[in-house]
Amino acid sequence: TIFNLGSINVDLVYRVPHLPGPGETIASTSFKKGLGGKGANMSVAIARAGSRCTHIGSVGDDGQWTVDTLASAGVDTRHIHRSLPTGHAVIYVDDAGENSIVLNAGANSCVSSDVVAAALAEAKDTDTFICQNETNLQAEAAQMAHAKGLSVAYAAAPFSAEAVKAVLPYLGLLVLNEVEAEQLQTETGHPISELPVRDIVVTLGAAGCRWYRGGQRRDFAAIPVTPVDTTGAGDTFTGYLIAALDQGKPMEAAIALAGKAGALMVTRLGTAEVIPTLQEVTEAF
Ligand code: ADP
Repeated sequence: TIFNLGSINVDLVYRVPHLPGPGETIASTSFKKGLGGKGANMSVAIARAGSRCTHIGSVGDDGQWTVDTLASAGVDTRHIHRSLPTGHAVIYVDDAGENSIVLNAGANSCVSSDVVAAALAEAKDTDTFICQNETNLQAEAAQMAHAKGLSVAYAAAPFSAEAVKAVLPYLGLLVLNEVEAEQLQTETGHPISELPVRDIVVTLGAAGCRWYRGGQRRDFAAIPVTPVDTTGAGDTFTGYLIAALDQGKPMEAAIALAGKAGALMVTRLGTAEVIPTLQEVTEAF
């Protein structure tokens, strides 16, 4: 089982002819509301990859439908509790595909430590814990999971050097994209490969990914596809990666599967709702 302390957002997506400038009021050409948040996306990816996922998080009374959506994807939602209004993202996408996003953390910043403790009380030392940088309690929960003997993973997004440093002592796996890896390298003054984490995976979009372990580096090519929408590729990749590792697959096989899932994801328009199932991934490539 994978315990995911993660954000749950309502994504409010507005199509606009151009991104509004200061003082400008424009009409949207379409509107869509959907489940989002890196945490929720990863939980859906983990479940669709065929692993058990217990989501730890917080929503408001307005967020029951997000919990229902996670549950219908097969995610265990018993440890999602109610606090502030549900976190949300206001997303503008213009005709050129450019976007601008405003996040409101809402309930995601009010996850209770009692809920984290109650969820992790159910964990075994063969289980996995993951979190990202969109909730509170990342370091506390990572420490608790580490103390219980779980494999602890972290997706360093959205990037904050402070947040990475706080969880670093507990990590067995760190996943970052190319931009985040460069930021971390600049902040710490050390090459990524020298971080005291057993496994580090740097994703490189269409260029695949890099895996560092024990001072060694291995490069993995991406599956060539024609991208339609790259949102959610990283979350899908990471969800599939830890799902495969939690199932006992070696890193090479886990990365290969995650790469296929990420590649299929970029051929699809949308986010959580279109994260592919394991069957779709294995049939596609
Ligand atoms: P993020 O969305 O976090 O920036 P990336 O863009 O690096 O993450 O994508 C994560 C993974 O998804 C990549 O390592 C790759 O395996 C896959 N992927 C992303 N974009 C493409 C693409 N254009 N073609 C094929 N695979 C892709």
